[in-house]
Amino acid sequence: MCGIVGYTGPREAYPIIIKGLKRLEYRGYDSTGVALQNGQGVKVYKKKGRVAELEDAIVGKDLHAHVGIGHTRWATHGEPSDRNAHPHQSSSGKLAMIHNGIIENYSQLKNELISKGYVFHSDTDTEVLLNFIEEIKKNNNCSLEEAIRIALKRVVGAYVILLVDADDPNTIIAARKGSPLVIGVGKGEHFLGSDASPMLEYTKEVVYVNDYEMAIVKPDELILKNLGNEKITPYIQKLDLELAAIEKGGYDHFMLKEIFEQPQTVYDCLRGRLDPVAGTITMSGIQQYADQIVKASRIVMVACGTSWHAGLAAEYIFEELCRINVEVEYASEFRYRNPVINKGDIIIAISQSGETADTLVAIETAKAKGAIILGVVNVVGSSIARASHGGAYTHAGPEIGVASTKAFTGQLAVLTMIALKIAYIKGSISNDRYMHLLNELNEIPEKLAWVLNHADHIKKLAEKYKDARDFLYLGRGYNFPVALEGALKLKEISYIHAEGYPAAEMKHGPIALVDETLPVVFIATKDAYHEKLISNMQEIKARKGRVISVITEGDEMAKSLSEDVMIVPETDEIVAPMLSVVPLQLLAYYIGVAKGQDVDKPRNLAKSVTVE
Ligand code: GLU
Repeated sequence: MCGIVGYTGPREAYPIIIKGLKRLEYRGYDSTGVALQNGQGVKVYKKKGRVAELEDAIVGKDLHAHVGIGHTRWATHGEPSDRNAHPHQSSSGKLAMIHNGIIENYSQLKNELISKGYVFHSDTDTEVLLNFIEEIKKNNNCSLEEAIRIALKRVVGAYVILLVDADDPNTIIAARKGSPLVIGVGKGEHFLGSDASPMLEYTKEVVYVNDYEMAIVKPDELILKNLGNEKITPYIQKLDLELAAIEKGGYDHFMLKEIFEQPQTVYDCLRGRLDPVAGTITMSGIQQYADQIVKASRIVMVACGTSWHAGLAAEYIFEELCRINVEVEYASEFRYRNPVINKGDIIIAISQSGETADTLVAIETAKAKGAIILGVVNVVGSSIARASHGGAYTHAGPEIGVASTKAFTGQLAVLTMIALKIAYIKGSISNDRYMHLLNELNEIPEKLAWVLNHADHIKKLAEKYKDARDFLYLGRGYNFPVALEGALKLKEISYIHAEGYPAAEMKHGPIALVDETLPVVFIATKDAYHEKLISNMQEIKARKGRVISVITEGDEMAKSLSEDVMIVPETDEIVAPMLSVVPLQLLAYYIGVAKGQDVDKPRNLAKSVTVE
């Protein structure tokens, strides 16, 4: 994870870097640091804590420079502390480096360096790599660029690194393998970032650096090379992202803004694709592979976290509509256990950021075995999007709150459209059902707006239940993944322990937790399992559990069994998760706020998990 920013050009570097780091804080916020190159050497300022804390701490210092790099950390090696904060300086003090990723063989390299007399001032893998580079430069009497190339050939792991050198006042050298790096191209200036947000107001022209590439970045020159020292022509792309999209727009938190954006983001996701009148779904990145999907003996969904929950919901939808066997895999497990992949298997990789390290490696493994990779990704141009053969973007816009909300509903919308499209081509769905579901899907944005209009009621419930020690979330069928997602949201944001379970399965264990203090949230919208779920509610009630339910408007039965309800409009069970998850997002958000937590940046978490 970690956010990285760099600037070289005629402007003052420090304010650009600080502003950029604030936009990247979603990637990590354990500590912050900058290295400023002002022609008379490199100055490093760094500190444990948020970007604003560093900013306050260095008021009045000499911050003048036209070249600089900055970092906001999500610690992997060494606790969050001043000394482990990036940038790190090399033994000679001439080089400063920031790093996003993990150097897996750092301990071997560290021992080699210690035997040569190097002393380390931090516990990080980053400082090891930096001194390793310096040692190679000294030994081989070569340029910094050459030393980096040689070093990276010995490095095992993932990285984006940015270096400045006291002896080379205008240049930033960058290299990437496995973590994201974008370079913004301005007039006589260049910007570097983990994503494009730090450079948005300065340029719309960007270059996405690929794995095993290095960039030598000067104000008026961008040289891209591979690790074999061959030049590569930078492919400049136009950014389609506005500044307003990454600002809070009057909401207290990004998370709340993003929850409230869902009618629009789901609408944007459907727009131009779904035509409920003509009965068509247009998705070119799926259409190309439609024949193979129809013929596939199985589909494997690969994802992590919230995206895994979207995959689980999609399993139910695909199996029902397309009659194709679907497996849902945690990317981190899938990649290491030598999974059985046959040529022609369809892998659907789901990721908000498109940079999730485990998912990325999982699809590369599957690709090498002949699978067809379809990406369901939010961030345009991200690594997973580029590594996929086809797929579809979720078009949810930048998601900055660390707890994913609008990306989830976007993923569900995309996956439902893919399932409907494939079912239609395959003929595994009747025309009536197909047309009905197209209409139901088309109405989701409007119904989402209806749910959000009832947010105040959920805020009151949050006040009432905020002191509970544990929560249980129960659902069946399409709403079981929603139960998991509801529990995950609460854990992430409020730090209350919560478990999601299939409602019927709770008899086999979790029911032992039930007493008069335990809130049990049922996702109880009207579907094929409804009566069974009502029985499960009775079972909880009989043991004095406090039943809170997400119910369909007008469901008096479920209401009568619940202490409190959160209501959603009626819809088909296939698309219901897109609605039923929203009250749970709001409940988690309002409980988190009521408990005084920093909901946009929950402790220990970061968005875009680019480490394994
Ligand atoms: N491994 C480095 C550290 O612990 C960078 C971590 C990261 O990219 O999240 O400082």
